[in-house]
Amino acid sequence: MASLPEPSLRIGHGFDVHRIEPAPNAAGNDKPLILAGVTLSRQHRVIAHSDGDVLLHALTDALLGALGLHDIGELFPDSDPRWKNAASVTFFEEATRLVAAAGYSLSNADATIILERPRLSNRKGEIRAALAALTGLPPGRVNVKGKSHEGLDALGQGQAIACHCVALLTATRQPAGAGASG
Ligand code: MG
Repeated sequence: MASLPEPSLRIGHGFDVHRIEPAPNAAGNDKPLILAGVTLSRQHRVIAHSDGDVLLHALTDALLGALGLHDIGELFPDSDPRWKNAASVTFFEEATRLVAAAGYSLSNADATIILERPRLSNRKGEIRAALAALTGLPPGRVNVKGKSHEGLDALGQGQAIACHCVALLTATRQPAGAGASG
């Protein structure tokens, strides 16, 4: 079968969820709730092998998904001590390197954070600015939306934080071929 030309656009989706728990000692909290590296709450602790940044995990998976590559768990397994307490920006940077190597760049990303408490409403701009700085894109191209889970399930009872993210990649040159064939 003749090989198809690489598309000029690729879209990817990522999802992540982590358990959270109250942190009785905020000052000694080694894993505060963070999004795109912004500390959202020291009164909550994320249960994670890495720093538990669901936004960067979902974005990383969206980038890998767009390239037709594997997922974050396969690239950075939580059984590997190298990634213990790792800053999630490391995962994002590796995915960004793979995007560039495949001949693409991130055009825009849209994320939805699902969190009961604390409310995101007055922090979304700050998180978006952090994401813009990380991606090198204008804030208008890295959207961060907040959503409550209406009291339903573990998310709604404040026991977890989740993130959905889609990312659109645009070819920067004649792509060399992304993802596995066949
Ligand atoms: Mg994760």
